[in-house]
Amino acid sequence: MGMKYGDAFEAKELPQDLKESLPDVYVDDLLMTLKYFIDEEKAHLWIKDHDVCERCEDKPCLTFCPVGVYKLGHDGRIQVAHQSCVECGSCRVGCPYRNIGWELPRGGFGVAYKFG
Ligand code: SF4
Ligand code: SF4
Repeated sequence: MGMKYGDAFEAKELPQDLKESLPDVYVDDLLMTLKYFIDEEKAHLWIKDHDVCERCEDKPCLTFCPVGVYKLGHDGRIQVAHQSCVECGSCRVGCPYRNIGWELPRGGFGVAYKFG
């Protein structure tokens, strides 16, 4: 039997007043300011068990990652483009089956944020 996202928890809508108090954020503009130090030898993100993904009907990882790290491959498996990760941490809580392995990139690698 397949597993649905809602089986694990129910997504909640933000209250209207909270929504209106939030600033407009344009993710593409923010991404332009980032600098990546890519570790081609060691992935800091990985799928723990692809059989679990097969049974995960909604596959929320395909939508919650702000930079689209997770894609469905032609073979039906989830692919992980760890090089694009902005280390937001969403996949640590967004996968309802805790099926994504996540650790910080090794020292000297990962994304650098520029402020100001
Ligand atoms: S990584 Fe998590 S959210 Fe994505 S398909 Fe697999 S089990 Fe589902
Ligand atoms: S930490 Fe954020 S940016 Fe990186 S893969 Fe997870 S959801 Fe995507």
